[in-house]
Amino acid sequence: MSTAPAELSVREFSTDADYARHLDESDPLASCREAFELPRDASGRAVTYLVGNSLGPMPRATRTMLQAELDAWGGMASEGRFRGTWPWYKHHEWFREPLGRLVGARPIEVVAMNGLSVNLHLMLASFWRPQGKRVRILMEAGAFPSDTYAIESHVRVRGMDPAQVVVKVKPRDGQACFDVADFTRAIEREGDTLALVLVGGVNYFTGQVLDMPSITAAAHKAGALCGFDLAHAVGNVPLSLHDWNCDFACWCSYKYLNAGPGSVAGCFVHERHANDLERPRFAGWWGNDPVERLRMLDAFVPVAGADGWQLTNPPILSAAPLRASLELFDSVGFAALRRKSLVLSAYMEFMLRHTAPRTCSVITPAATHERGCQLSIRIPGDARGTAKALHERGFWCDFREPDVVRASPAPLFNRFAEAHAFAHALGEILKG
Ligand SMILES: *Cc1c(COP(=O)(O)O)cnc(C)c1O
Repeated sequence: MSTAPAELSVREFSTDADYARHLDESDPLASCREAFELPRDASGRAVTYLVGNSLGPMPRATRTMLQAELDAWGGMASEGRFRGTWPWYKHHEWFREPLGRLVGARPIEVVAMNGLSVNLHLMLASFWRPQGKRVRILMEAGAFPSDTYAIESHVRVRGMDPAQVVVKVKPRDGQACFDVADFTRAIEREGDTLALVLVGGVNYFTGQVLDMPSITAAAHKAGALCGFDLAHAVGNVPLSLHDWNCDFACWCSYKYLNAGPGSVAGCFVHERHANDLERPRFAGWWGNDPVERLRMLDAFVPVAGADGWQLTNPPILSAAPLRASLELFDSVGFAALRRKSLVLSAYMEFMLRHTAPRTCSVITPAATHERGCQLSIRIPGDARGTAKALHERGFWCDFREPDVVRASPAPLFNRFAEAHAFAHALGEILKG
């Protein structure tokens, strides 16, 4: 993949607890942890939070950002749309640049709106345009359920049968992860029956990063369009959506972006489509030109850019927290986060190799360009019980059927000492 970072320089870790402390002391991002309120368990005890891939913790600045919106609403009500520091009428415009930096897009190509699953439907409406025999949608087997539901229900709504339309690429027998060649081969095989490729950029179950530029190129070569679900990718791995030439992408903001439960999601539409006002879409008044909007015209004329896919006025109380989060990302810089992330997950894996029985395996790919923060650990025997025992000891990670524990040390707030302690706790639990 074009953005593969140089191999880690830190290959020779040590298993000593002192060494973990040394890594924390020399970590230039160590102080970022202070920017968060970290959760406690029901008895008030601090926990090791390794589920930021599921719901990111709260940046402290969120309270101020939200309070400011409550004050604006309380103090100005309708005038808050046009007055104050963050006028609501153009609140969404604030996200273009910082989100563009995170996903590798031009400001005009990104918009913060709705929820992820909603945006998937909006993108399907515009970019799945079945014609003649070119009808099929290619996705990955074992996708996050909402993605499968969105695609299959969308197909049914248009009077077609998912069994005829949806093609799924599977991992090879005995493998947890995909071989990217299987995507390009399946795309070639479907050829002129293929209308759209829509896959998760980072697999939620294994943490595998798919080769998005190659999949996009293969889809385009077959004459199809290509989009990605980036729920587990944004804020986690480097993205260059514009240069990779992806047609569209969607993501949520409550995982690695730490913008809070149900916070406003995001969408990328490549410039060539974003500026194509003829492209069919579902329309609402927030998708038209903001200068014309209040003239309340009958004819919908979309504004150029990803903004032209907005339906409804932005949910300010779920969007303000995203500002707090993106300011944090911008102040640290993604390259520095990625550097720490790779070392932190490599260190955790190194420790697991030392503490856990050989029968445990990390199914996340080893290559740095194929992984982000998350390690998916296959646990023989009672994986669910293991996750529960970890939780009781204050290590919050999660269990996925049938036998996987996912743990995501996040570079913004997790410490090397936490990775060290987690590996020891897992080892002790498994040794009984
Ligand atoms: C988290 C996640 C979702 C969740 O969808 P929402 O609409 O935000 O509830 C969907 N797809 C993937 C791949 C996810 O990881």
